[in-house]
Amino acid sequence: MLTALAGGVGAARFLRGLVAVVPPEQVTAVVNTGDDDIFHGLHVSPDLDSVTYTLADAHNAETGWGLAGETFHTMDALDRYGIPTWFRLGDRDLATHLFRTERLRAGAPLSAVTAEIAAAWGLHTRLLPMSDDPIATKITAELETGTEELAMQDWFVRHRAEPPVVSVRFDGADDAVAGPGVLDALEQAETILVCPSNPVISIGPILAVPGVRDLLVARRDRVVGVSPIIGGRPVRGPADRLMGPLGIEVSCVGVAREYREFCSALVIDGADAAHAPAVEALGVRAVVADTLMRDARVAAALARETLAAVA
Ligand code: GDP
Ligand code: CA
Repeated sequence: MLTALAGGVGAARFLRGLVAVVPPEQVTAVVNTGDDDIFHGLHVSPDLDSVTYTLADAHNAETGWGLAGETFHTMDALDRYGIPTWFRLGDRDLATHLFRTERLRAGAPLSAVTAEIAAAWGLHTRLLPMSDDPIATKITAELETGTEELAMQDWFVRHRAEPPVVSVRFDGADDAVAGPGVLDALEQAETILVCPSNPVISIGPILAVPGVRDLLVARRDRVVGVSPIIGGRPVRGPADRLMGPLGIEVSCVGVAREYREFCSALVIDGADAAHAPAVEALGVRAVVADTLMRDARVAAALARETLAAVA
């Protein structure tokens, strides 16, 4: 059994490669829910959905979120009522949020609903929300009107990740309990993979769930990460806008420093080969590979090399 810590699009691409080289039934993904929020009364779980849609091969590869061939008639119709629609939800995507919200309202935990959604999309990979308890990533940023704490999507989508970041916290994490199966999956995994996801707001919230970080530290020999930073920049998304202000060098070396306590090996890109000695100086084995997942074939090769790094 393999267990992966996963955010959204970076994780989804990696997991697609992973399930091409090992049976999907053997993979458990522990997925970030810190980005979850309510829009138009619906519970949206962006990272769970990115992973689900990508593994189902139904994702929009261009935008990196939502479904392929999606339409936005409902959003356009909402505009008539003057409702803010900066967080775009596609017409077919809305069905997922309607289903999830209805099931949650009926009392089902997020973990159960997630399993139902994954099954409906024909997935054989086990997707576990990091917790059934609400944990919300909050970003304190400098707006023109002053310093303000924003919900993650508010900063990222509405404000286009522009306001300079002051701090990040995971509201509710201290009192949360790891989702059913999460700690077992980490304890029993032959290998634990930290997907190439945003270290601050995708992997960070999972590490903040009580018990997770300690388990990873205890199993450090079996934990391998993939750097989401290539050539000093994220492939996409705002990782640099978060890492920099929080004092994390925006490079694979910065990622290694963040992960060194619980990662024994880090896969870095060929473009960063010159950084390998600096990564190793931190006590983390550096494995150089092609980590830019242009297509499913590259993602599969990357998954194979990542598994080999701690074999
Ligand atoms: P999000 O919640 O959708 O932003 O999802 P993630 O946190 O999982 O993914 C964002 C991270 O994935 C960013 O920091 C990207 O640099 C990284 N990423 C995306 N595509 C690739 C890729 O092809 N290779 C690598 N190494 N990282 C990637
Ligand atoms: Ca996300």
